[in-house]
Amino acid sequence: MTQADAHDFDVAVIGAGAAGMMCAIEAGKRGRRVLLLEKARKCGQKILISGGGRCNFTNLFAGPEKFISENPHFCKSALRQYTQTDFITLVEKHGIAYHEKKLGQLFCDDSSTRIVDMLETECKQAGVTIWRECGAENAKKQENGFLVSVGPQTVRAQSLVVATGGLSIPKLGANDIAYRIAKGFGSPLTNRRAGLVPFTFSSDDKKRFADLTGVSADVEIRLRKTSFRENLLFTHRGLSGPAILQISSFWQPGDSVMIDFLPDVDLERLLKEKRRSQPKIQVSSLMKEFLPARLASKLMNEVSELPEIGNCSDKQIDELVKIFKLVNIVPIGTEGYAKAEVTVGGVSTAALNSKTMEAKEVAGLFFIGEAVDVTGFLGGYNFQWAWSSGYVAGQYA
Ligand SMILES: Cc1cc2nc3c(=O)[nH]c(=O)nc-3n(C[C@H](O)[C@H](O)[C@H](O)COP(=O)(O)OP(=O)(O)OC[C@H]3O[C@@H](n4cnc5c(N)ncnc54)[C@H](O)[C@@H]3O)c2cc1C
Repeated sequence: MTQADAHDFDVAVIGAGAAGMMCAIEAGKRGRRVLLLEKARKCGQKILISGGGRCNFTNLFAGPEKFISENPHFCKSALRQYTQTDFITLVEKHGIAYHEKKLGQLFCDDSSTRIVDMLETECKQAGVTIWRECGAENAKKQENGFLVSVGPQTVRAQSLVVATGGLSIPKLGANDIAYRIAKGFGSPLTNRRAGLVPFTFSSDDKKRFADLTGVSADVEIRLRKTSFRENLLFTHRGLSGPAILQISSFWQPGDSVMIDFLPDVDLERLLKEKRRSQPKIQVSSLMKEFLPARLASKLMNEVSELPEIGNCSDKQIDELVKIFKLVNIVPIGTEGYAKAEVTVGGVSTAALNSKTMEAKEVAGLFFIGEAVDVTGFLGGYNFQWAWSSGYVAGQYA
């Protein structure tokens, strides 16, 4: 096919995930002729598997402080232009039942497919053309727009929106095309790493915690100045659960994390009080009141044999406090992109206009969603970023 035979559109959006679909809808509503290209057979594959099949589609408390980026201010404009309330209004317009699970996290009552169906319906109403099983291979600038190669076909469009996501879950087709396109157009990238991902143990810690697989506890976890209060789960390879996923997005190899297994308990005060009021109690029985028995016993094994609480010295009490409230772990690594929910880092925000998501140096080129160096905390924030950045680009593409 020659350039003259190319398919002509006003806007080509590469990637029919959350961000790409939202952008296509909005551009379509403006009367733009939009082509949405999707490599996979189905649109919105990550939406379908998200939130355990119920899609945690936004968070009532979505705000810029819930996002990680080299420029923490970058996300503000998009989040203001399209808020969680805007997305909730859309969900309600489509009669999708939802509930708040905890901490402002909104999930579908029945299935994530409701969100994909909603977006596909909106695409149809906005006149968006969708080509499924059509992966874009590369994109070039030409006079008045862009040329995108899709197998034997060529697409010509005035605006090009790159919405191909990050590297997490390669078995779903995640790939680095967004970064390659950015590089090709001279847009800088920040370093990328797996985020919202379980930790793996060193061989010593694997032995140390071997019999705790499946045990979970409500903890406070800290890394430098960042801390989260959520559940932690011991796995056969390391640590998982929301607390770990959250802190993992801040973790770099070599960092240690500090875990408080009794975040609500002033343990020193409690133990000293028990020493007076119930001196005959065994420390191990006392600790099992607060923690799963297996976890309490395991941590108790790390202190030297203790007398009953009435005979514990201040030094022994200090040691107990450390053992339960200041547990220092140095993960050997993470489970990587195979298990990560997101990629931290991506197309540098320095290259983009925060009001429009357009590349500063290349008129008509936009990057949105997870491809960009904006990463949300766990809890519906990543989809909110996809909706907000997609909406914004849809107003200008
Ligand atoms: C297991 C799991 C659970 C998650 N749960 C939640 C949750 O409950 N709440 C939340 O907020 N976030 C969740 N996330 C994160 C969230 O899914 C992502 O942040 C979000 O999907 C990013 O949207 P996106 O549109 O930028 O990218 P994606 O959703 O990754 O979409 C990119 C699309 O581009 C397509 N594509 C790739 N290359 C090409 C190409 N060359 N040509 C054409 N198409 C291409 C892909 O097939 C894909 O459809 C979860 C992630 C995972 C992995």
